[in-house]
Order: sequence, then structure tokens, then C-alpha cells
Amino acid sequence: MKKTRLQQIENGNSSHSSNGAAVRQFCRNQYQAQPSEKTKALEKVEFRFQPSITTPVQYLKGVGPARAAAFAKLGVQTVGDLLEYYPRDWVFAPQAMKIVQMRPNQPATIIGLVESTDLQTFRRVPMFEVVLSDDTGVCRIIWFHGEFLQKQLTPGQIIMASGKVSIYKHQLQLTNPKFTVLDEKPDPFRLRPDLTASRYFSGGVYHATSGLSSAQIKRIITPLLGNLDTLVSEFYERALLKRANFIERKTAFAWIHQPPDQEKLTQAKRRLKYDELFLMQLGLALRRYRKQHFSTAPACTWNDKIDSRIRRRFPFLLTEDQDSCISEIIADMSRSRPMNRLLQGDVGSGKTVVALYAALLAVANKTQVAIMAPTEILAAQHLISIERYLKDSQVTRTLIAGGLTGTKRTRLLQEIKRGDIDIVVGTVALLEKDIEFNKLGLVVIDEQHKFGVHQRAQLRKAATPHCLVMTATPIPRTLAMTAFGDLDVSIIKHCPPGRGAVVTRWVAPHNREKAYDFIRERLRAKKQAYFVYPRIWGSAEDGEDVKAATEGWKEISERVFPRLTVELLHGQMPSAEKQQIMADFRRGKINVLVSTVVIEVGVDVPNATIMVIEGADRFGLAQLHQLRGRIGRGQSKSYCLLFADADSETAKSRLDIMTRTNDGFEIAEHDLRLRGPGELFSARQHGLPDLKIANIIDDFELLTMARNHALELVSHDPMLLEPQHRNIRSALIAKFGDSLGLVDIA
Ligand code: ADP
Ligand code: MG
Repeated sequence: MKKTRLQQIENGNSSHSSNGAAVRQFCRNQYQAQPSEKTKALEKVEFRFQPSITTPVQYLKGVGPARAAAFAKLGVQTVGDLLEYYPRDWVFAPQAMKIVQMRPNQPATIIGLVESTDLQTFRRVPMFEVVLSDDTGVCRIIWFHGEFLQKQLTPGQIIMASGKVSIYKHQLQLTNPKFTVLDEKPDPFRLRPDLTASRYFSGGVYHATSGLSSAQIKRIITPLLGNLDTLVSEFYERALLKRANFIERKTAFAWIHQPPDQEKLTQAKRRLKYDELFLMQLGLALRRYRKQHFSTAPACTWNDKIDSRIRRRFPFLLTEDQDSCISEIIADMSRSRPMNRLLQGDVGSGKTVVALYAALLAVANKTQVAIMAPTEILAAQHLISIERYLKDSQVTRTLIAGGLTGTKRTRLLQEIKRGDIDIVVGTVALLEKDIEFNKLGLVVIDEQHKFGVHQRAQLRKAATPHCLVMTATPIPRTLAMTAFGDLDVSIIKHCPPGRGAVVTRWVAPHNREKAYDFIRERLRAKKQAYFVYPRIWGSAEDGEDVKAATEGWKEISERVFPRLTVELLHGQMPSAEKQQIMADFRRGKINVLVSTVVIEVGVDVPNATIMVIEGADRFGLAQLHQLRGRIGRGQSKSYCLLFADADSETAKSRLDIMTRTNDGFEIAEHDLRLRGPGELFSARQHGLPDLKIANIIDDFELLTMARNHALELVSHDPMLLEPQHRNIRSALIAKFGDSLGLVDIA
């Protein structure tokens, strides 16, 4: 019986269900219809058309102008982009069996064609029946109380059903199984319906957009996967693939889009992640190589005499960490290839001193120094800290402020041009065209990541001599390797001795007055305080429950501390006024400084031992830590009070971490985990292409491997001219354009 049935299916003239047969007959007719002359011509064209990775997606089958526009929204312009448009998720075919393999009392998942449907009553219970066939047999499926299924299940569909097998009247039967309709209208061109689950469940689910569904994207990508031999070229030699246990690159593309199973998907991901990280690291390594080999900087002489002359400027012994950073800097600066070093250290760890050492070394070698900060306030602050150390020194220094105009500015620029001024402090405005140095030996950049994207691009383009980048934002190792991957790194781990501890407390709203009392006492003892607010303006009426700085200032000066001097400082005040207030605060003329995050970086008033952060739950961890760094700079104990009414879990965990630790690196790691790498260090800001599949936190091991590999490759073949590096080279050019200087080399 079964055999006959099978033959019937293959012959396509089943009489078991006229409906199902009709469908299949229809399919056959369609299939056998003669192709028109026009389709024949089309087929020929398609056959000859061989896309390359630079082919615009619009030329692909199934993509017209509308879909090309939708693809553009997804960042996909070319066939290469499309191949790298990786699925956001993967679905695997369930393990389906053939009907002939079903065994009584065992679970089974089968896929078949709905031959017929019927609604009956069995002992007064409505019962919906389906006869399902595959290429090995037929099986009855029933659902008690299944009358509602009449609308869902109709002959001609392909469904998947899973449940427990029973025998009823010597026939296999599934009772009340779960089911999925796999295909409503089987493709009429198909001779025989496809009864494999993988056709329906294979592989990728893509991020879609309006006018372009995941299924459509899949249909457009699928034909490309047959072309991978020509589209994708291998990067690495066999030996490496074997050593690192990597699959071939083209296989990885096939499997990432349509993985045969979970294990192969994992292999594909690993390979493609590595390639992505490798190209990024290679880009960074080449950028660094170019900086070092295609530009020169004045080689600085260093000797004991210079050293002791510089050290005499500091009223304290340098810490071990400061000394080791300085040794690294000296080694760099004594070479004629430019230093490119990142100096990392928590707030107050003594970076300024290290930078000033470098500056004085450059000046001792008769070159000039430019020190750049992200804001005018910070630039001014830098000059002040430098002044402290340079009192009565012959080293000339100046601040170029934005407010400076007319003849004053012209005269200053002339002095700089003549080389009369040794150290010039300012914002990135120092890169403006009309500012010319006589002989620039060192550029110090503070908090580079706070510079705008545009400014950073300017920095990169400017012909730099030795360059020292400082940051107080502790950068976890993963990020240091990517965002600042083209820099050497020096780290100050420990702060100078003699620092008072910083105690951090979270103050809930009902304890506010108690906190004010506590602060009042400290202020009476001549200590100073910062009150930081998330915003300058705006008020409770805007639905905001946290006061803005202007309002807070009113309340604090009028109600909370009416007898003390309370001043307001924010970023939108005129520059001169800001400087005046900072100067007064430094001199102790102001007891309480109410401000926004303008005081975040660089402000250094050791007598300020209290910091209140209003709406602390609004700030990110990194920012809270930066703010807190303003206190604890003197000998006495400092207090950081976080005013917050935290109801969200993230806010709570942030405040928790802050009260628990002062270690910037630990906080940064938490931050990274809570927020992900975030915009702050996003690759794009640093002129690197975005990562599509790899993740620098989760794939740290691959990242390290890729970095070592990239460095080794660049040291052997810096221009990537050897034939076996040709594919890597063109991939790099495709990714980075000519920014790596590879393009002009044949
Ligand atoms: P950073 O720039 O890393 O925030 P600074 O260089 O401004 O830190 O130093 C913070 C404070 O520590 C300053 O007041 C500075 O005078 C002081 N300081 C720096 N180095 C030392 C040291 N080796 N010993 C004692 N105090 C130091
Ligand atoms: Mg500093």
C-alpha cells in the first residue's frame, strides 16, 4: 500500500485527495510551460553577469532602485557590503524525520504535504483530521476540539508537526501535535514540494528596514553564496589557517549566512571576527608605522644636567610611576622619529608633571611646545598649573584664548613664529592656519577623546612632531588596543602620596537636610565645596525632578548657606567671567561653587574637599568618577555626596559601585560592562571602520591574537607588497581608503 502511495505521489495523480492533486497538477503544468523568448534572453544575461565585491547592489537580481535605497539605509552599497551584512540571528531546522521512521509511543517531528482535511465528530467531540504525506508514507493527524483549525489548515500546504506517535486502527497517528505551516502556496515551478525543514529554517535572520524584509534580503544574498569562489579571496596562508584552526574565508561567508549547523556557525563567526579585528589592527599598525617612518621629529638630547634642571622645578620627589613614564618618554623623544604616546592616569595621579617634564625637555632642546586642551577653561587651568612650577624660570609661556583679537593676537602670533615663546597653551584653535611655530618639537594633547570628531581629524592631519596624549579616563585594555591602538601607552597607576581619602556616600532625598548640616560644618572649618548639577537651565515644571544649576544656585545661596559666598559657574558664561570665578574659588574667596560638568576635568583646588552631585543617577559612571576626581587633592579627608532618588536598577548599581571603589580602572570596567564600549570610544570617532561582527570585549582573545599578527606582518612587510599579502592589502584599501597611504604604492 505504502509503495503504491509513494508511486502515486511521484506520478502526481493521487486520487486520495483531489484537492492536493490539483495543486500538484497545477505545479506541473506551470513547470512544463515553455519559457518565452524573453525569459530565455534574460536567463542568458543573468548567466553571464558576474558580480564583484564592488558591484553596486542595485545590479543584483531582485534589487531595483527602491530596494537599493533601502539597502543604502542599512549601510549596504556594494556586493561586498552585502556579504558583510551578517544575520542578526540564526534559526536552525528542527530534526525532522520521515513518516516511515515514525515509531509508536515515540516523539516525532515530520514535515509533509496536507493531502486532505476533514472535520468529524467523535463521541460528540469535534475532531479535525489531516492526512499528511511525505515521500515515504502517509500519516493521520487529529486534533480534538480542533474545529478552529479549519481556517488554518488546507490541502496543498506544507506543514511541520511534532508530537507523540500512536497507532489507531493499525495506522500511525499524531494526536494534538504542535504544528507550523511552512509553506502556504508551494512554488508552482517546483516539480515536487520540498519537504526538508532546512529550506524553511536555514540560517540567517537579518535586520530589516522598511521596504526590505529579512526574507527578501536572504533571497538576494543566496545567489551570491554560489559565487563565493570569485567574490571572496583568502587572506592567510594554509599554515596559519591550520595553526589557528580557522576555516577558509569563503566558507566562513557561506556558513555565516546559511550555517548547516550550530557548530559550523561558531566556526564561521570566529573566522570572520578574526578577519575584522585583524584588518582593524593592521590599519592601526600601518598608521603608526607611517607616522614613525615617514615623518621626523627633532631628536632631543637628554643628560643628567638637563634632568636635574627640570626636576628642580618640582617641589616634591616624583613617584615611581611618574619616573617610569618619564623614562619611556625620554627614550621616545631622543629618537628622530615622532613619539606617539598615550599617558594614562587617574585624575590627580600627576600626569601634568610628567607632561611638563616632556615639555621642558623639548624646550631644553630649543624647540617649542604646544599644549592643547578640549576647552578654554581647561587650557587656562593648564597654564596655571604650569605657572606654579615655572615661577622665575626663563621658559616663556602663553595662553592663546579665543577672546584674543586684533593687534594683541597678531603680536603674540609673531612672537610664536619667531620662536620667542617656548610653551603655547590653548585649545585646538592652536591648529588654525595663521598660527605658525618657529620650531615645534612637542605637542601635548589633553583628553583627546573629548575633542570633537572634526577637531580630531584636524589633529591627525596636522604634521605632528613628538606627540603626547594624556587622558584621565581610565581606558580598559581592550579599548586601549582599539581606540588608541596606534599609540604606545604609559600608565601612572598610583597617585602621589599624602592624599586624603575620599569617602563617597549616596544621600537619599529624606537625608538632604542632614547632609547640608554636615557640609555647613566643613565650610565653617574653611573648606570649600562643589555642587554639580546635570543641567544649566530648566526646572521642575518641565517634568524634571532634578533642579538645574541656576535654580540650585538660588536655593543654596539664599536658603541653605545664606551667610556664605556661593557662586555659579557654567559653560555658557563669558570666558572672562568664568576665569574670574575660578580664580576666586582657587584663592578661597568663594565657599561654594555651583556648576555644571564644566568642572569635570583639570580643575585643581586642594582645599575643596566636598563635592555634592545633584541627580547623580543622571550621570554615567565615568563622568561621576571624573567629577569626584576634583576632590581628594589635598591632605585632608574629602567627601563626595551623591544626591539621588535612584529607582532604576542601573542607576542603583552605578551609585553602588561609586560608593564601593575609587579605582578608576575598576570603574571603567564596570562602565564598559554596563554600557558597552559606547560612543565615547567608538571606532568611528577614531576614524576606524565600525565593527560588524566582532566585539572588543567578548572577543578579547581574538583581538590580542589579531594585534600580534598585525604587528608581526607590518614589521616584515610594511607596505604589504609581497604577493601573499595582496588580498589583505586590497581589503585594507577597500576599508580604509587611502588614509593608510597604501594606495599610491603600485
Ligand atoms: P593629573 O594631571 O594627573 O590630574 P596633576 O599632575 O595635576 O594630576 O597632579 C595632581 C596634584 O598632585 C597636583 O597638585 C600636583 O602638584 C600633585 N603632585 C603631582 N606629582 C606629585 C608627586 N610626585 N608628589 C606629590 N605631589 C604630586
Ligand atoms: Mg591635570
